Amino acid sequence: MTRKTMLPYGLHWIDEDDIRAVSEVLRSGPITTGPKVAEFEQKVADYCGAKYAVAMSGATAGLMAACKAAGVGMGDDVITTAVTFVASAAAAAHLGARPVLADIESDTLNIDPSDVACKTRKWTKAIIPVDLAGHPAELNEIMKIAHGNGAVVIEDAAHALGAEFRGKRIGSIADMTVFSLHPPKILTTGEGGLVLTDNADYADKLRACRHHGLVNRDLNGWEYDVEDIGYNFRLTDFQCALGISQLKKLDFFIARRREIARRYNAAFADLPEIITPTEREYVKSVYHIYIIQLRPEMLTADRREIFMALRAEKIGVNVHYIPLHLLTYFQREWGYRRGDFPKAQRYYDNAITLPLFPKMTDEDVQDVIDAVRKVIARYRR
Ligand SMILES: *Cc1c(COP(=O)(O)O)cnc(C)c1O
Repeated sequence: MTRKTMLPYGLHWIDEDDIRAVSEVLRSGPITTGPKVAEFEQKVADYCGAKYAVAMSGATAGLMAACKAAGVGMGDDVITTAVTFVASAAAAAHLGARPVLADIESDTLNIDPSDVACKTRKWTKAIIPVDLAGHPAELNEIMKIAHGNGAVVIEDAAHALGAEFRGKRIGSIADMTVFSLHPPKILTTGEGGLVLTDNADYADKLRACRHHGLVNRDLNGWEYDVEDIGYNFRLTDFQCALGISQLKKLDFFIARRREIARRYNAAFADLPEIITPTEREYVKSVYHIYIIQLRPEMLTADRREIFMALRAEKIGVNVHYIPLHLLTYFQREWGYRRGDFPKAQRYYDNAITLPLFPKMTDEDVQDVIDAVRKVIARYRR
């Protein structure tokens, strides 16, 4: 029997504890730039094993601030993956740098370190690997390439809060790591982001950038200086209170995401028509999304048709993401063309994101499994 309502691909989890935590701040104040911001930052830094965490109004703001702290500007190159959300490349471009795209590894779908090595130049200022779907990128190799060329690694870990790479939590590895707190992500504050670093100079720059570039404040109660103009990228106290409350559930969120991924993997193991996600043995993915890839040679329908058939079953499938080199801006401004990244293209032509979020019931999970099996059987060659 088909579901009555569309199951979304992702959804936040807000409970009464969260609502109480936010209400308390709204009742007692301060509502922005107060103690909850510092408390949230410290708790996330401790969880991830980083020295500093700087809360931002979003991950896009965090990427901008991190690029600025890394000194990215006019004439620089910034390398990122072709398969990501536009925000990963937009920050660098806003600062006048050239977004240089690299192809992906076909198994993890993350940026291919060998392509990064090929594209690194003297003027490459930053490399922005993305932990797609919550699976960490090949950070050791990327850091080696970057540091050997004087470039900074800014990890776009919007999907990967709580993920691990070779026994270390994400947030404790790259020069700077950016998390998103947008609702479908691992943890939410409504809107919000965080930048983690072990580098005190970066942390100072990130804090200044968040608050109009102000430094050396309160010398006489009113004085400040501005060495470099910044932005208003602040996050409110009631959002940080929500973040603190959400953090208590983080391990549960991750365990539930991994459990759903395991059920999908088991249920699709006997379907050669679809490729299920790779998880390298030395990482722990947090499955922000669960992406399957179709094997077109084994099916009589293409991705579009199978996508529509799943939507007709009320499974709110999605596609993450349209590779950046296919978007008008990157073609017009930076000369990218269809055909530039064969692995990214093959991935994009066959990818479908299935619903996965902690609030899904076991019945929801079974609905997804049944719908996928039914649709694949219909189009089996
Ligand atoms: C969600 C997302 C962002 C942007 O996050 P915001 O908090 O919405 O600004 C950046 N990069 C990736 C890979 C994302 O998925």
